[in-house]
Amino acid sequence: MGGKCPHRKVKTRRYSHKQFRRSKFEAKGDDAVYEQLQKPDDQIKPLPLDEDLPGMGQYYCLHCDRYFQNVAVRDDHFRTKRHRKRLKQLTIAPHTQLDADLAAGMGMPDNGPKLMST
Ligand SMILES: [Zn+2]
Repeated sequence: MGGKCPHRKVKTRRYSHKQFRRSKFEAKGDDAVYEQLQKPDDQIKPLPLDEDLPGMGQYYCLHCDRYFQNVAVRDDHFRTKRHRKRLKQLTIAPHTQLDADLAAGMGMPDNGPKLMST
């Protein structure tokens, strides 16, 4: 269709179209991240070394599903608006299919307390 990038706004100019799409499609779903956060600490494995990832995959932000080059960059990221927004989002349980079904009036009907039969 052409024309201006639909996501282009003055305030978000620093992210290019490509970066915007990438963050949208490559990021883990909210529910996956939320599940990860619910796990107790001892279940979380130490990060494996991965040459393909920035900083050998050692500097990772769980909430945003992003890897960083070094500690300083990661700490910088922890202070960004994006990260804080994400933290806030993840304090509440993500929307699930069950919620959708309930909202649509499907699944687990609530018929009130069971009446004594006979
Ligand atoms: Zn983050």
